[in-house]
Order: sequence, then structure tokens, then C-alpha cells
Amino acid sequence: MKLCVTGGAGYIGSVVAQMLIDEGHDVCILDNLSTGHKSALPEGTRLVKGDIRDDASLDDALDDGVEAVLHFAALSIVEDSVAHPLTYFDNNVGGTLSILKAMNRLGIKRFVVSSSAAVYGAPNALPIEETAPRRPTNPYGHSKLCVETMLEASKRAWDLRYVSLRYFNAGGSTEKHGEHHDPESHLIPIVLDVAAGRRKAFDVFGDDYDTPDGTCIRDYIHIHDLATAHVLALGAMEKRNFSGVLNLGSEEGFSVLEVIETAERVTGTTIARIIGERRAGDPPGLLASSRRAEEVLGWKKSHSSLEEIIQSAHEWRTRNPDGYPD
Ligand code: UDP
Repeated sequence: MKLCVTGGAGYIGSVVAQMLIDEGHDVCILDNLSTGHKSALPEGTRLVKGDIRDDASLDDALDDGVEAVLHFAALSIVEDSVAHPLTYFDNNVGGTLSILKAMNRLGIKRFVVSSSAAVYGAPNALPIEETAPRRPTNPYGHSKLCVETMLEASKRAWDLRYVSLRYFNAGGSTEKHGEHHDPESHLIPIVLDVAAGRRKAFDVFGDDYDTPDGTCIRDYIHIHDLATAHVLALGAMEKRNFSGVLNLGSEEGFSVLEVIETAERVTGTTIARIIGERRAGDPPGLLASSRRAEEVLGWKKSHSSLEEIIQSAHEWRTRNPDGYPD
């Protein structure tokens, strides 16, 4: 298939683009390289360096028989979204709107998009089902909810087929691709930086939550398993005419302290930590039910034990101590 991947130089987009290439698809990447890395681009892809809000870039990337768009280009840092809400709505909502308008204009009717557990806010019950109330607690979550609203309306109005994948916490690395944000804000890479001596200590954002050890609980899913779900989503739209939202998580929750302890075992080091204040917008516990993704996509996780996630991230970081070179 001829496909366009937006954000294909980013952490998740690059792994999915690589998997699509390996499966024999023809992939064009649209990325403005604002947070992505040039050296993360898989070989064999055409790069259109441009913004998803720019019509000329979209026309270039979506030209020539593209049949489906996989959309990863978005801002995704919760705390940042609290400080800069309009930037988040502009990029995430405005950007997706531009893509959908271009797709509508060009007659492209297949769309796979990164959504987030952040659409649920602080859930009443765990594990979270897709039918749980959607009450985001930060602008990032709201921006993803707006995207899902546009998709459902587009499905009714112009026959768009879409799969919105609500990620829980992505982690881990593949042989070629790993996690490198600048600045880094995510738990696993920061913990590994402390283990490697690149940072002095890890700041635990609050230990007074209503959880067994007081730190936040998250559901960590390996980037390889996450990527597989996108490939299956393309098939589900074709073969089953499926459109809708699906959670992607491992159905197991780990606290911040449990992640640190696992990283200590994997790296054989002691990881110094400081208990600090809560971070704005953090819900205490997020844990997915992924039953629906398993049923609809035939998706099976194969790499998502916490050990394997941290081990693979550790190996990639050991091979690439400074992350990507550009
Ligand atoms: N966290 C932390 N210190 C850090 C980074 C993250 O205590 O330096 C915690 C954060 O509060 C959350 C969990 O680790 O409970 C996962 O955070 P991350 O930013 O990796 O992902 P998020 O859950 O925000 O998508």
C-alpha cells in the first residue's frame, strides 16, 4: 500500500514506519523535524520536511495515490500542555484538522491516529475500558479528545474509516529505534540516565497519591507491540470495515518506584531518587483493558513485560549514549 506517516521521525512514528517498510509498503514521511530526529528516519522512505498545518506540504506528502495516513505528528508532554494550551490545540487539533481536510479533498479515506489514555483523565475504575467516561484533566488530553470527535463526525459525513489508538505508556526500543526527547521528560529514559551516571538522581513526582506505595501507577507497553497494532489497524479497516477507538496497554500497572526497582535489577546499579512535589496534570493511576484491541485487531502483546521494556531501552541507550546524532 502507498502510505503517508506524519511524525515518522519521532519515537513511535519511526518504529511504525520501519515496520511498514519491512512489510513491503511504500511510505512517505511528513515531519517538520521539530522534535523528531533525521537519523531516526527509516531507510527507503521519502521525507517531506514540512508542517502538517501547511497545505503545500500536505499536498506533496499525500499526492500520488496515498491510500491511508498514519498520523503521529503531535505534541505530547502533559505538563507542557498545561503551560501552553493554545500551542497544543493549534498543533494537535489544528494539525489534524488540516490533514483531514486534505484527505477529504484528495479522496483518502483511511486514517490511523495516536490517541492517549489522557482522554480518560482520572478514571473511576481500573482497568479502563473504551466506554469509560472521557474527562481529560489537561489540555493534551482535551486535544486528543477533540481529534476523536472530529474523526467520528467525519466517519458519518464522508465515510472516513479511522482507528484511534489510545496509548498508555509507550516504552522500550527496537534494534534501530529508541526514545530520545530533548528535553527528556519520560520516566524510563530518565531513570536509565541516572543508572548510567548521566544524571545525579531521579525526581519522583509525589509519593502521596492514593496508591499502594504512594507513587503514580502506569501501564507500560513496548514500542514494538504498539507498532504492531498500527499495522493490524490498517487491515481491520480494510477487511472488517472497522472504525473506532481502541486502548493499547499491557493490562498491568506499575508504580514509579516499581519501575525504578526494575531498572536497578536490569542495569545492576543503584538509582538515587528524591521524592518531590506532584507534577501538574498527573492522574494517580492509569491501567488499560486491551480486550477490545485483541478482539478487533487480533493483537497479541509479545514484548511488554516491564523487564523487557527496560532491558531493550537500556541496550539501545548503551549503544547510543547520546541518543540520535541529529
Ligand atoms: N515521573 C516522575 N519523574 C520524572 C518523570 C516521570 O516521577 O522525572 C512519573 C510521572 O509523574 C508519571 C510517571 O512517572 O506518574 C510516568 O510519566 P511519563 O512522563 O513517563 O508518562 P505520562 O504518564 O505522563 O504519559
